[in-house]
Amino acid sequence: MKFGGTSVGSPPAIRQVLEIITKTRPDWPQMVVVSSAIYGLTDALLESARQAAAGNLEPFQKTLAAIKERHADLLAALVSNPDERQQVWAELLTLINGYANLVQAIAVLGEATPRALDAVVGLGERLIVRVIAAGLQARRIPARAIDATGLIVSDSHFQAAVPLMPETFIKAQALLETVFQAGEVAVVTGFIAANQQGIPTTLGRGGSDYSAAILAVALNAVEVWIWTDVDGVMSADPRLEPEARTISELSYREVAELAYFGAKVLHPRTIQPVVEAGITLRVLNTFHPHHKGTLISERMLDPENGAVIKAVTAIRGVQLITVAGRGMLGVPGVAARILGAVASTGATVPLITEASSEQSLCFAIPSEASTAVLAALNESLAGEIERGNIDCISASEDVVIVTAVCPQMRHKLGVAGKIFSALGDSAINVLAIAHGSSDVSISLVVSQADLQTTIKALHALAS
Ligand code: ADP
Ligand code: ASP
Ligand code: MG
Repeated sequence: MKFGGTSVGSPPAIRQVLEIITKTRPDWPQMVVVSSAIYGLTDALLESARQAAAGNLEPFQKTLAAIKERHADLLAALVSNPDERQQVWAELLTLINGYANLVQAIAVLGEATPRALDAVVGLGERLIVRVIAAGLQARRIPARAIDATGLIVSDSHFQAAVPLMPETFIKAQALLETVFQAGEVAVVTGFIAANQQGIPTTLGRGGSDYSAAILAVALNAVEVWIWTDVDGVMSADPRLEPEARTISELSYREVAELAYFGAKVLHPRTIQPVVEAGITLRVLNTFHPHHKGTLISERMLDPENGAVIKAVTAIRGVQLITVAGRGMLGVPGVAARILGAVASTGATVPLITEASSEQSLCFAIPSEASTAVLAALNESLAGEIERGNIDCISASEDVVIVTAVCPQMRHKLGVAGKIFSALGDSAINVLAIAHGSSDVSISLVVSQADLQTTIKALHALAS
C-alpha cells in the first residue's frame, strides 16, 4: 500500500492511514507500506537547496521551522507516551540536522548538483516513515521504518534514477523477509533509492508510486494499492473538469497512456513493472476508504454506457519545435539526427508528427528545454542550414497536449471523427495530431488558451 502526500499531511489524515493499515492487516499479514513525504515538503526542500546555492538561506530557515512544527504535530497526534515520542523525535532531529548541514554545504559551495539535491530531497520520506511506524507501534502493531536506500538499487541518474531490478530483488527480498518473519509491518520510504555505491538517488517527482510497484514486483506481491486523495483514476483531472467521474476498471495500457500524458494520479513508470509481473493495481481514496476506486489489470473494457472515449488528460508547458526545408525530402537520417540532437540535451519528446512529404518534422518538448534544444538543433544541422536544405527551425509558444483515451481506437469506426467534430463545434484550432503508435489514445496539440474548452468538449464524449 502506498500513501501520498495529502494522505499523511495532517493529523486527521495520518490517523486515517493508521486506521486503514490496522483494518487491512488481518487479511494481509505480509504488508509493505510505502509513503510519500507530507504534502508540499518535497517542493520546499528542493527550493531551499536551490536558493541556498544562490546565496539565499531564507527558504531553508522557513522550511526547517515548518518541518519541525509539522512533524512534531503529527507525532503528538499519534504517540501519546512521552518517552516513546521523545525517542522518535530524537531520530527525526538527527535526520533534520543532516539536512541542515547539507544545505549549508550547498550554500558554501554555491552549487546544488543533482547528486546533492537527491541527498537533500529524500528527507521528507525518511521522516514520515518513522512517524508512521511510531504511530503503529503506539497502537501495539509491530512496525519497522525502512529507508529504501537499503532496498532499491538504482543507476546513478540522479533525480530520475532507474532501478536495477536483479540487485533490488536480492536486497528487498532479504531485508523484507526478516521484517515479515518478525511479524512487523514494513514502512518504507517512497521516492528514494541508492546507487550501487550506496549514494542516495531519487526516482523522479511523484516517484513513490513507482517505488511501490518496484517493491511489489521484487516481493511477488498479489496487489498494489495506491491510496490518494481522489476516488481513483478519473475521466479527467477533477481540478480541470468538475464533471470528472471515477473509472471503475481500466487496463494497464490505458492507464499507462493516461499517466504518460499528464494524469498526475500515477507516476508514468508505475505500470511497466506491474504489467510484466501481472500484478493487479488499485487506486483508492484514503479519505473515502469504502469507495471501490479503480481496478487496473490486463482486462480492457469498452467505455461504459456507449461513451466514445474513456478519459481525457493534458500536459501543460510544452512547445512545438518545427524543423522544415525542401531539402529534407528523402535525405536519409535527417530525422535521426534531429532527434539525436534533442536527446543530447536530455529533453523528453512526448509527441512527434511528420508531414508525409518529409519536408517538415514537428515534435513537442518541455518548454524549459526549448533554448537548449534550439541550440543543439542549429549546431547539429549547421551543414544542412548552410546548404539551404533546412530553412526553418522554430519553436511555438507554450501549448498543451491533450490526449483522449479509448480502447481499440483503430478498429472502431468514427471515434476520431467524433473527436474532431466536437472540437470543431467548440471552435478549437488543432495545431498538431499524433495517433497510430498507440491503439488506445489520440493526442492533439492546442493553444494554452484553449485548454479548458478542449477538455470540456472531449470530456462530453466520455459520458
Ligand atoms: P499523491 O500525493 O496521493 O500521490 P498526487 O497529487 O500525486 O497525489 O495525485 C493525485 C491528484 O492527481 C489528484 O488530487 C488529482 O487532482 C490529480 N489528477 C490528475 N488527473 C487525474 C485523473 N485522471 N484521475 C484522478 N486524479 C487526477
Ligand atoms: N514526495 C515526492 C514528490 O513530491 C514523491 C511523491 O510524492 O511520490 O515528488
Ligand atoms: Mg503522486
